Amino acid sequence: MTEKFKVSTKSRSDFVDITSSVDAIIRKSGIKSGICHVFIPHTTAGVTINENADPDVTSDMISQLDKMVPWSAGYHHFEGNSAAHIKASMMGFTVIIPIENERLVFGTWQCIYFCEFDGPRNRTVLVTVTGE
Ligand code: ZN
Repeated sequence: MTEKFKVSTKSRSDFVDITSSVDAIIRKSGIKSGICHVFIPHTTAGVTINENADPDVTSDMISQLDKMVPWSAGYHHFEGNSAAHIKASMMGFTVIIPIENERLVFGTWQCIYFCEFDGPRNRTVLVTVTGE
């Protein structure tokens, strides 16, 4: 089954922890063991898995991505948001997580981050759950 939910981002670059929304879809599915696939249907936002214990981790990631891919750098794309397209592809548009006992199988500090690079916007996340 595939379900979707909305994410409202607050700034141009914004990492939003979406783990609880994904968990809710898994419990609704009734699947006890399988695979959870998260897909971002956008070109200037991505998804990644990383640490949720210290908020400095995501702020450091955002500031380093900004250094690697500055907002203005002589890009040709007419929309003026090439940096967001590049950073979204760097993060990627999917993550896959195993499910056991109706829960995501994560390391202690892991969570799923929706990665906004051209916000603030209202975005969509697709979650596909397969298994038994
Ligand atoms: Zn664009």
